Amino acid sequence: AKTAGGGIFTSYRPQMQEGLVERLELENDLRAACENHDLRLHYQPTIDLDTNQVVGFEALVRWPHPTRGMINPLDFIPIAEATGLIVPLGRWVLHEACRQAVEWSKAADGRPLKMSVNVSVRQFDQVDFAETVAAVLAETGMPADRLCLEMTESVLMTDTEANLEQLVRLKALGLTLAIDDFGTGYSSLAYLRRFPVDTLKIDRSFVERLGGVLTGDTALTDTIVRLGKSLGMATVAEGIEEFGQLAALREMGCGFAQGYYFSRPVPAQEAGRLFLEGADT
Ligand code: C2E
Ligand code: CA
Ligand code: CA
Ligand code: CA
Repeated sequence: AKTAGGGIFTSYRPQMQEGLVERLELENDLRAACENHDLRLHYQPTIDLDTNQVVGFEALVRWPHPTRGMINPLDFIPIAEATGLIVPLGRWVLHEACRQAVEWSKAADGRPLKMSVNVSVRQFDQVDFAETVAAVLAETGMPADRLCLEMTESVLMTDTEANLEQLVRLKALGLTLAIDDFGTGYSSLAYLRRFPVDTLKIDRSFVERLGGVLTGDTALTDTIVRLGKSLGMATVAEGIEEFGQLAALREMGCGFAQGYYFSRPVPAQEAGRLFLEGADT
């Protein structure tokens, strides 16, 4: 990075240039990692709060970089989105997560396993996205109703006919749709009725404040859980770290939970064990 460029740019803004070169390097490395299938998936269990059982997982991508160590998705997903690499990367994630879910379910004598996969706006905007998902389901033998696609509110907030049609096409495959990080976007409650969404994932920022001293913090989460219920949607709370938060969510009647309190996202082998053990937590 130090020798590249040089001259005129270095004399102006050395830091900016360093940042740019680093970013280009990272971009090239990411392209190579995608092509060579060097990315990995970790899985975080989803717990059914009625039965305390592991009923599924959220697939979370990881990049073990040869020299920089493990790179956080928040540091490379934006690059993948900006370059368009997210499209092949996202397809790989979807395929690998479904393949893995089918394998674990088979090993557990067919016990159903719900697999959640994060989808970027950039993927969703591909005209053939629904066909891609259909192809992956066919390739892996994953039953559609065991796949959940997680999308942020920004996808749904763009209330266009094209978006609605895309959602309808996806729903027609038989899968479920979740709104990720619910409550953090510019929510208009109207779109919740308009769009065929099945699940609300309550953002960690709400869960974090549970068990605090301010009652208003609890009221907001309670309202989201009730909203989900009244619309016939499942509610999943993310980012549970403490027993107090879990107790509060149970009290509210939240259906499902994820968080370090139960398990961090773990490599495939460990996740498989958690599922097979039935993992009462
Ligand atoms: P997300 O979809 O909201 O995923 C939840 C994030 O919270 C994960 O971070 C997870 O490790 C973390 N988390 C889970 N439980 C706890 C907890 O109890 N406490 C705390 N502090 N954190 C918790 P991760 O794995 O670093 O992923 C970050 C984000 O990167 C994800 O946020 C998602 O937006 C994106 N991402 C990850 N994998 C993919 C992918 O395959 N495709 C796309 N498009 N985005 C992905
Ligand atoms: Ca998610
Ligand atoms: Ca989330
Ligand atoms: Ca998040």
